Amino acid sequence: MKLCWLTATQAREKLKAKEISLLELTEAIYQQIKSKDNLIKAYLYLNEEEALRQAKELSSMNLNSQVLSLPIAIKDNICIEGMPTTCASKILGNYLPIYDAHVIEKLKANSAIFLGKTNMDEFAMGSSTENSAFQITGNPWDTSRVPGGSSGGSAAAVAAGEALWALGSDTGGSIRQPASFCGIVGLKPTYGLVSRYGLVAFASSLDQIGPLCRSVSDAALLLEIISGWDQRDSTSVKYNPPAYSRNLGEDIKDIKIGLPKELFVSGIDSDVKRQVNLALSTLENLGAKIEEVSLPTIKYALPAYYLIAPAEASSNLARFDGVRYGYRVKGATNALQMYKLSRSGGFGAEVKRRIMLGTYALSAGYYSAYYGKAQRVRTLIINEFRTAFSKYDLLVSPTSPTTAFKIGEKVDDPLQMYLSDICTIPVNLAGVPAISLPCGLSNGLPIGLQIIGNYFEEQTLLKVAYALEQEINFRARPSLLGEENE
Ligand code: GLN
Repeated sequence: MKLCWLTATQAREKLKAKEISLLELTEAIYQQIKSKDNLIKAYLYLNEEEALRQAKELSSMNLNSQVLSLPIAIKDNICIEGMPTTCASKILGNYLPIYDAHVIEKLKANSAIFLGKTNMDEFAMGSSTENSAFQITGNPWDTSRVPGGSSGGSAAAVAAGEALWALGSDTGGSIRQPASFCGIVGLKPTYGLVSRYGLVAFASSLDQIGPLCRSVSDAALLLEIISGWDQRDSTSVKYNPPAYSRNLGEDIKDIKIGLPKELFVSGIDSDVKRQVNLALSTLENLGAKIEEVSLPTIKYALPAYYLIAPAEASSNLARFDGVRYGYRVKGATNALQMYKLSRSGGFGAEVKRRIMLGTYALSAGYYSAYYGKAQRVRTLIINEFRTAFSKYDLLVSPTSPTTAFKIGEKVDDPLQMYLSDICTIPVNLAGVPAISLPCGLSNGLPIGLQIIGNYFEEQTLLKVAYALEQEINFRARPSLLGEENE
């Protein structure tokens, strides 16, 4: 097997046993990027020279530090000092951050090697990565299809062997839905577990950074590295994260699982339903107790989200005015004209749509009818999740109602696009953690299963996901890349 297909956990073991060197590993990944990324277009920026220099230096040191440092891809809305961070937007086309995000500091403390920055929907608004101002990313399983979004570049890179693992961000499903479309594992942590410092804000009360990986152990390992309190994010929680990889492999007998019937809605593809049901029987065989539960208010999650997220976005994106950094039109004759032209030329259509929706929802006469009401719905949803978790350890649903759709299929129909996150959005509104796990194929395309946990119960979530992963044994690899048998 080519080194670029190792899981991060396997790569670590091989490094520890000195079977491979960090330089060989890093070179193998860039080799793969060179041969596949012209097709996939997962990366917006490659850090090859610096990454190889670092890999060489660490390899020659022959220290244990090698064991910790693994090459990683980073979504292009997470700041790395001195490396372009565009959020796939023209308005940040020339932005070079002068500081590292908290997660990047943590990775640097583990001598991680940054492979490059990955493509995304502009400012993380979208479910297909088609809203990038720069390029369209193909799904490694079928390049005529989307990789999901908004962390589509990170998911596609991991699925195509162009990264061992990656970071993404999830505001309404942007880690889990692309993980599901690309046949990999994606984890959205509890809101407040991972610092948002250095993540370019979309909707601050919902955004979380999290791992996109090839295995549950990898997700546990990466979460261990990036989680923890940070005083620069006022919503970061003072909580000492446990060693998440430690209790993987424990048995899951008597785990109580609820199936929210509102997430098994009409419109779910029959193959998706079948594979999710198969996974549920597997969980039952492992000793889990499963029953249906109702969270009636989550049917209002989508409309509530599409008021709250755009409202926060309209406020967060007000800072991009062409004055201090970012795109500025030339030739404006006064300040107002300069703001107007820079913002109209710098933002893409979906971002503008959200800014307008959000500004409207927050405007004086409509505030309580729209934003206020959406917040009240959110409180009801939170209460329903709390009640469900007083009875169940976990909740399970499909990650997305369908497998990856065709490029161009939904891009002109925002409502259809928004519906692809119907199962993931309630989780962000409640702030609880959730993981997407590959659970089978439909016509050669991966299907994702979502497991939702109680606040700060990532350990339980990962333990059950791990047990299920061992049984499902999803080893399929994109055949399109011609490497399925390697
Ligand atoms: N697809 C959703 C949206 O467009 C979620 C995006 C995200 O999680 N960043 O808002």
